[in-house]
Amino acid sequence: MPDPRPRTLRALPVEGLDALLQALRRRGYRTVGPTLRDGAIVYDEITSAADLPAGWTDVQDGGTYRLARRGDGAYFGYAVGPHSWKRFLFPAATRLWRARRAGDAFAVETGQEEPPRYAFVGVRACELHAIAVQDRVFLQGPHVDATYRARREQAFIIAVNCGQAGGTCFCVSMKTGPRAAAGFDLALTEILEGGRHEFIVETGTERGADVLRDVPHWGPPADAPDAIDRTVARAAAQMGRTMDTADIKELLYRNLGHPRWDHVAARCLTCANCTMVCPTCFCSSVEDTTDLTGEHAERWRRWDSCFTMDFSYIHGGNVRNSAKSRYRQWMTHKLATWIDQFGTSGCVGCGRCITWCPVGIDITEEVRAIRESETATVRQDSRPKEQGDA
Ligand code: SF4
Ligand code: SF4
Repeated sequence: MPDPRPRTLRALPVEGLDALLQALRRRGYRTVGPTLRDGAIVYDEITSAADLPAGWTDVQDGGTYRLARRGDGAYFGYAVGPHSWKRFLFPAATRLWRARRAGDAFAVETGQEEPPRYAFVGVRACELHAIAVQDRVFLQGPHVDATYRARREQAFIIAVNCGQAGGTCFCVSMKTGPRAAAGFDLALTEILEGGRHEFIVETGTERGADVLRDVPHWGPPADAPDAIDRTVARAAAQMGRTMDTADIKELLYRNLGHPRWDHVAARCLTCANCTMVCPTCFCSSVEDTTDLTGEHAERWRRWDSCFTMDFSYIHGGNVRNSAKSRYRQWMTHKLATWIDQFGTSGCVGCGRCITWCPVGIDITEEVRAIRESETATVRQDSRPKEQGDA
């Protein structure tokens, strides 16, 4: 990953966005960003600024996602959709090797295909944190993931400071947004105030500054720092959800037998949507296949989930055979055991698991229910004893 450099602010006119994309494409990057498809804003290859969802936003709540028109031409006036950048850095299916029969033996080819050189456009602050979380999982420690490393090392990142939060966002609670603090080459803030529509661009790396030199831009407006602050403050004030994270690890460890897990299990379909959309979930399974001739065999790695029965099957039985145990495993991993394992929370407050849960199960509501039950117990215990109390 490139070295950070001292930050500078510059002004970029709206037309400069396309010039920025073209400068990246001339350098051989595959530019990937938000685009409208299948009734959602999803990440896909974009070739010009015309592919961006200008004038569109999303309306999100538990189990609900709708596109809506904005009254302006904002390019980044939405929160986050069902996709996250993990689908490019940690693809949903990766061939690990293939083998071909050679006489009585098999010749195994392990070589990876040339990794794509991605430029990610529109990476939100919570998503930068999610990438940093996956960096710890895949790049640190004794087992470095070669596929992830090859893609991650080359990725050019254009962050966007949020000016609009979604109904299920809670990055303020998780201290992961709405302002991009680190981990980008360039960071854009889209300023939409009165009749004003322009970008302020912040350089994060020398590589970012080099690309910006190819794009028409000029000195920052006099109010640049204030305009950025106003934009992110607007998003911070719009957070649709909050989560009290004080002492959260101990809270969950104290409550592994809490009746709330039965309450959530009665609603959970164990569909695994929450893990598929989560930008930090990283579980996978390995599968071997052969063709009918017996001449070829392949080994694939595919995303898996702690919500599937097969995932926790261990010689002779499933160690988490109820919805209760699987939801509890997922939530306590995200918010508690992840901290022991990786030194950070596994949740960045993006809200995707709330929006894309078909029954609207809400991780913030589940934490609140457990926390409030303890507070109610303390209140009851500290109530003055009435005459006749045992
Ligand atoms: S919490 Fe929701 S999204 Fe996750 S497995 Fe249960 S029903 Fe599916
Ligand atoms: S647990 Fe939910 S809110 Fe947290 S990072 Fe994953 S998808 Fe986003």
